[in-house]
Amino acid sequence: MGETLLEVKNIVTEFRTADGQLPAVRDVSFSLKKGETLCIVGESGCGKSITSLSVIGLLPSNGKITSGEILYEGAPIHNLPAEKMRQIRGNKISMIFQEPMTALNPVLTIGFQIREPLMLHHKLSKSEATKQGIELLKQVGIPYPEKRIDQYPHELSGGMRQRVMIAIALSCNPGLLIADEPTTALDVTIQAQILDLINDLKDKLNMGVMMITHDMGVVAEVADRVMVMYAGKKVEEGLVEEIFNNPKHPYTIGLLNSVPNVDDPDFELEPIPGSLPSLNEQITGCRFHARCKFASDICRNKEPQVINVSDTHKVSCWLETEVH
Ligand code: SF4
Repeated sequence: MGETLLEVKNIVTEFRTADGQLPAVRDVSFSLKKGETLCIVGESGCGKSITSLSVIGLLPSNGKITSGEILYEGAPIHNLPAEKMRQIRGNKISMIFQEPMTALNPVLTIGFQIREPLMLHHKLSKSEATKQGIELLKQVGIPYPEKRIDQYPHELSGGMRQRVMIAIALSCNPGLLIADEPTTALDVTIQAQILDLINDLKDKLNMGVMMITHDMGVVAEVADRVMVMYAGKKVEEGLVEEIFNNPKHPYTIGLLNSVPNVDDPDFELEPIPGSLPSLNEQITGCRFHARCKFASDICRNKEPQVINVSDTHKVSCWLETEVH
């Protein structure tokens, strides 16, 4: 695996609301290398999507990174003016979303939408962009790309539309691809094809991939490393085999126990009780304590520190400290 591509250091992302400033991402740090896939996992609302939108500079207008820094190839990108950030999005970092139909414009042809970034960012002529667009559609496995390029999004299946989105994302030769639940809206067989495609492209183009998902099955399929988030905080991080074979945080264990195991007839699903706290809920101690069956007094009163389980595996839980 290659050199460091992205470093996120202690970022806090807050939203301005009628109830005041509410933090959605709390002091989160991680890094990503070229040719590596980092999966960020957790339930909806845990802060994983806001973390990715913070990286790509696409936060809603009431959201802001209020502290910390984000470095891309060693240079800060968290405080760039909007125009400079737009160039980064056009040339270095791309993102694909869960539902391609909402990201694609239904009244414009695939050709128009794939040519646009090529003409804008790479200054290609219309015919050069068409040629390049056909190549990109071919690269993501779209059959008859010369015909598809003149079609509209509704004429394609969900899987084909997600391939088109990936082709558009690749048009800027990104070093970093952020994929936010890219297969959630797709059938299981199509899901596997899209994950394989992302994996293949990552290897071929030596991209870093940041995959946002709530699905541990997807994590098992694509991740090199995993970061687990809960209520805006990173609670555990490690190599994929460390997270699956030796999970330490009760929340990570809960996520793993919520995945059906078809190989084990005696396996029983064990959903995590309760639900995520809201952004404006004041919590003392461990943010997971209200849902954790191991919670003790110290958990309710004091926030756990980060413990190194190995050089690559870290967890924030009092169960892993001697104080407990
Ligand atoms: Fe559970 Fe305590 Fe660990 Fe939090 S610190 S996850 S409450 S055991």
